Amino acid sequence: MKRIGVLTSGGDSPGMNAAIRAVVRKAIYHDVEVYGIYQGYAGLISGQIKKLEIGDVGDIIHRGGTMLYTARCLEFKTEEGRKQGIEQLNKLGIEGLVVIGGDGSYRGAQKLTELGFPCVGVPGTIDNDIPGTDFTIGFDTALNTVIDAIDKIRDTATSHERTYVIEVMGRHAGDLALWAGLAGGAETILIPEVDHDMNEVVAKLNRGHERGKKHSIIVVAEGVGSGVEIGKKIQETTNFETRVSVLGHIQRGGSPTATDRVLASRLGARAVELLLDGKGGRAVGIQQNQLVDHDIMEILDRKHTVDEKMYNLSQELSI
Ligand code: ADP
Repeated sequence: MKRIGVLTSGGDSPGMNAAIRAVVRKAIYHDVEVYGIYQGYAGLISGQIKKLEIGDVGDIIHRGGTMLYTARCLEFKTEEGRKQGIEQLNKLGIEGLVVIGGDGSYRGAQKLTELGFPCVGVPGTIDNDIPGTDFTIGFDTALNTVIDAIDKIRDTATSHERTYVIEVMGRHAGDLALWAGLAGGAETILIPEVDHDMNEVVAKLNRGHERGKKHSIIVVAEGVGSGVEIGKKIQETTNFETRVSVLGHIQRGGSPTATDRVLASRLGARAVELLLDGKGGRAVGIQQNQLVDHDIMEILDRKHTVDEKMYNLSQELSI
């Protein structure tokens, strides 16, 4: 391969820029040209494609978001849309594509590979919900953003002796809530993968209150339900002064942590290696600190699971 493309797609995550930089520099290091595709699959179809040089990815390693922008593109779900995309790539002589994004983006990459265009997926999402990798790019940064918020809320929760419900992102995956709850010392963590009993949540709050606890923190993944509704129920059943904080999109932004930058650099470079070895239809990841790659189809067929032992530990430490 002498010419490859790179795009970011779906929800953005901090560290995507570091991954783009790694793809560009690794390719150029191997005398391969790199083209940046802007606005994800939408830009692929409409041909928003530009050659990237070493300097184009300078000064971005520490920036959140994605310099290539990202988009959601319904047209790409049709074969016609994907064929248009391939035409654009063929016109420029691009022979392989690195797709940085979540599972939706992986589906697009898989479908392109099925049409004979080799793609490699790089896991970029704050949700940490891609099978075949222990961590996704952006998770560590989002986790630290949430922890920063929990620590601050804890101060005011203590001063006012309040119960706080903190809603974090994660429609289908509870990793962010679980890790943040564990690291933030939350009393209760509610995640979509584990059913909860509101009576038990309330009983735990009461036990804490009887023990003289000044405040309580409950971390809820958005997939469980509205934090506001959960807060209301708690206020009604316990009579403890309860406040709700929905952290929202601040979790997606910010300068990536060193861990995310290193992860993004390693994964981005590995994706280029695979393409140069002629391997399409793969998804890169990190497992037990080793770089790995799997068949994208196999990753898409697998269901994300939350670390059960870690969930149990969070229960044991928040008695
Ligand atoms: P994420 O990659 O963060 O999971 P989405 O699920 O929104 O985000 O997917 C991003 C984009 O990937 C979609 O807007 C669409 O263009 C493409 N995509 C998603 N699912 C498919 C599919 N089944 N076939 C082709 N393209 C898809």
